[in-house]
Amino acid sequence: MASLPPCSVSKDSFLLSSKSFMIPPRTSTRTTGIYGSPLKFEKIEDTRLRFLGSVKTNPALRLEASRETLTSTQEVPIHKMESVEENDGRPDLFSDIKHRFLSFKRSKYLEKSDHFQKLAKGQAPKFMVIACADSRVCPSSILGFEPGEAFMVRNVANLVPPLENGPSETNAALEFAVNSLKVENLFVIGHSCCGGIRALMSMQDEVDSGSFIRNWVVIGKHARSSTQAAAANLSFEQQCRHCEKESVNHSLVNLLTYPWIEERARQGLLSIHGGYYDFVNCTFEKWTLDYKGSNVENGKYAIKDRAFWS
Ligand SMILES: [Zn+2]
Repeated sequence: MASLPPCSVSKDSFLLSSKSFMIPPRTSTRTTGIYGSPLKFEKIEDTRLRFLGSVKTNPALRLEASRETLTSTQEVPIHKMESVEENDGRPDLFSDIKHRFLSFKRSKYLEKSDHFQKLAKGQAPKFMVIACADSRVCPSSILGFEPGEAFMVRNVANLVPPLENGPSETNAALEFAVNSLKVENLFVIGHSCCGGIRALMSMQDEVDSGSFIRNWVVIGKHARSSTQAAAANLSFEQQCRHCEKESVNHSLVNLLTYPWIEERARQGLLSIHGGYYDFVNCTFEKWTLDYKGSNVENGKYAIKDRAFWS
């Protein structure tokens, strides 16, 4: 089962260097069975009650949520910006978040109230983004997506499961974005130092482990095997960097297993892009699946419009 890796791997660089790659035929990758450890309900209840208590004792938290104050000229009163330093002797973690929200409201929402009122009636984003849940890689922060510009789903290791895996929140979001919102671009974004990819590369076997993480990241097992084949002589860390990009390409191909995505791509109504954010060096690579230049039935895929931003 030969495959051409999408990346050339050297010690210092993991830039994509070939213009085409091949994905080996899939065997069943269905992952079923969820056996988590018991939830600690009493802890959850305790947290909920504490949160409700803070709202009751801090009516400002409710006031700022009111839509009645939304005018483009109105200033947010200064007294509402005052922070609550402590709550029952504990630091109020929401104090800073409250400031950020009010700052957003004043400097963006109220400044562009017409735009946001339009968004309240509906959305027409040009992008659907699939990114990792990692707190360091928020696409809106690093690529500047503003409200209304990108429909987004974030999961562990930014993976797109193939159709055969059945329902997940990722393909539910894809279905809505493609069939209802008619987005024109699907954009899968990987990143450096990805814990999900590390978990994938660390797996000794692919049986149901009872771990939600392992049972999820096993979606990328073909990316792992092609990485191990292409980068066997490299260190584990370097293999992880390689797989972070390889898994993006496999996700791009998995997107085409959904007939409603494949059809729109074939009609030229939908473009499929990959991206890779290196937050160690702060660089970004972007590439596009060349649907017309690919031979989907034979599992040969080409990429085009590669760019490297540094
Ligand atoms: Zn990640």
